Amino acid sequence: MSKLNTSNMAIPAEMSSAWQGILNLLAEIVATPAALIMRIRPQHIEVFSANNNHPHPYHIGDQESLGCGLYCETVIKTNQALLVANAMHDKQWCNNPDIELGMIAYCGLPLLWPNGDVFGTICLLDDQENAFNRTYQQLLASFRDSIEAQLTTLYQNQHLEQINSELKSRVKTRTQDLVELNYSLNQEIDKRIAAERKVHYQQRHDIGTGFLNRATLESKVDEKIDTLADDSQRKIAALHIGFTNGRHIQAKYGYVAWEQILVTFRQRLIKHDERDVLTARPSSNDLVLVLDSKQFEHDINILCSELVAVSQSEFFIDDQTLHLHSYIGVASSDDTRCGKDLIKYATEAMQSCKDSGHKFSFYNQDIADTQKNINQLESYLLQAVRNDDLLLYFQPKVAPLTRKWIGAEALLRWRHPILGDISNETLIHLAEQNGLIFEVGSFVLRSAIEKASEWLNSVDDFTISINVSAVQLQSPQFVSQLKDLLSAYQLPASYIELEITESGLIADEVIARNTLTSLSNLGVTLSLDDFGTGYASFNYLKKFPFDAIKIDKSFIQQLEHSEQDKEIVRSIIHIAKKLDLAVTVEGIENSAHETFILAEGCDIGQGYLYGKPMPCDEFELSFLNQNHSTHRYSYS
Ligand code: C2E
Ligand code: CA
Ligand code: CA
Repeated sequence: MSKLNTSNMAIPAEMSSAWQGILNLLAEIVATPAALIMRIRPQHIEVFSANNNHPHPYHIGDQESLGCGLYCETVIKTNQALLVANAMHDKQWCNNPDIELGMIAYCGLPLLWPNGDVFGTICLLDDQENAFNRTYQQLLASFRDSIEAQLTTLYQNQHLEQINSELKSRVKTRTQDLVELNYSLNQEIDKRIAAERKVHYQQRHDIGTGFLNRATLESKVDEKIDTLADDSQRKIAALHIGFTNGRHIQAKYGYVAWEQILVTFRQRLIKHDERDVLTARPSSNDLVLVLDSKQFEHDINILCSELVAVSQSEFFIDDQTLHLHSYIGVASSDDTRCGKDLIKYATEAMQSCKDSGHKFSFYNQDIADTQKNINQLESYLLQAVRNDDLLLYFQPKVAPLTRKWIGAEALLRWRHPILGDISNETLIHLAEQNGLIFEVGSFVLRSAIEKASEWLNSVDDFTISINVSAVQLQSPQFVSQLKDLLSAYQLPASYIELEITESGLIADEVIARNTLTSLSNLGVTLSLDDFGTGYASFNYLKKFPFDAIKIDKSFIQQLEHSEQDKEIVRSIIHIAKKLDLAVTVEGIENSAHETFILAEGCDIGQGYLYGKPMPCDEFELSFLNQNHSTHRYSYS
């Protein structure tokens, strides 16, 4: 707290008038003309209060400079009482200023504030000699005490006021501080709540799309299933949408563009808001929708047909147009009452679409059985690979004009003692899924190259065509593996043709281009297989160093019935010729097919008309004989 400044402290009017009353009383009792209260100021001393019941020369406000030898100044300096009975007879006082005013006797006491500061004096002055007897002095002292008591009260009041105002200002600053603190605290709390909400949101959602993540989806589906009544029409369905080219789109255009496509995909399902259809992204290339409906049959039909329509619509990235390759699997709360299983069943149904090629499939026991079969099949396949139970069949490739066998396509076979013949599509698909494709692919490469190196001794000019899977093509070791085998069997690369489908290219175009360029440099022939069935066949011819194309048998099989297919095959052959590519047509089953390809000038034909895929011995017998005797075979 700051110190009180007594020199400026104002004396209230009522106190001043009380003092005057005291001075009047004093002058009256002592019978002296002047009773005064003097106040000291920094530069002077002034008459602060004076009696007005006797004439005297002093007026309130009269000032006298310090250092002029005033009685009062001495009292203040010495802080002691002063009594001068007759200044005229006193050497020390005979020249003091009051004498000029006619005052020759003086009796004064110092007046102090309670903290020891000097207020001034209280004094009596007489124009005659006056010894101010003891009683008068005591009277003066007791009046001094009374005035000092009032000064004390005043001082303490001021002191209290000061404390009070300082307290007030402290309270004010503290209040202001508190307000500010409270404000920043609230801001902090808001920030924290927002951060917690964000974390909570991120724990439950896929960040890129804002859809639910797998864990949240499962728990939400469980919650919904718990509220289902047995008899009600209300049911819940999970629809798993798998995008097979999602990975490719992501690799090519980046994950942000891919996520935007997923969001757009969802937005195009316009009839369904979040209340009746939950949307989740359980993994990068899949979406799951969960429908909760009281008119289940009606709503699921609408949703499914919308999904198919949206799946077939066009999507855009920058100025590129894209199509999604999607499969949709559906399971409902009739299949299971467990959220996790419901989603799993929808996924299995989606997988079964991939296997069957259908766009759409509902979960049923068959799918569950198929899945079990697949698991069983996988373990058989593993055994087959380990036990060398795989074998190659060879199907002749023929020059249609002469029907001369100019090579063969090596086709994988696996005859299982219990399961019988298993389709190649199933086998390859399975092997690609579980990684056995590398062992299977190595077996095919090695066996085919081994055979070709044997035939080399008897036949001058042929090619052996080997199918290469998408997964193999993405492997960095593939080129060196092929190179090593060729040198181990001393087979020139020109005897080998690799048949590659579009799916092998779209997974990662950069890797595919590097691999294909190395293969081309090696001297093998590269053929784009199943030509015409994909989205971008011609596009790939531009991008990759292909030497040949193989037109898919699906076109040939429709030739008789479809002028359009005829026209398509014609155009393909025409363009391929312009691009200097050799053309093989597969699926030649009858002479009408043959007549057509002959007319169109196709280079190589392959199909049951010329020879089915056959075991190696059988193929060799005909192939080697034909080349020894140049005998012309005919097939029916
Ligand atoms: P692909 O490469 O299109 O092979 C031609 C398929 O058409 C073969 O079926 C063959 O038997 C069949 N085919 C040949 N001529 C005719 C015909 O005149 N009419 C009809 N309807 N079909 C004919 P396959 O052997 O069942 O092979 C199916 C697919 O499995 C192949 O299609 C190929 O994509 C794949 N594949 C076969 N062997 C291998 C292999 O060693 N490695 C890889 N990665 N895939 C293979
Ligand atoms: Ca092929
Ligand atoms: Ca084909």
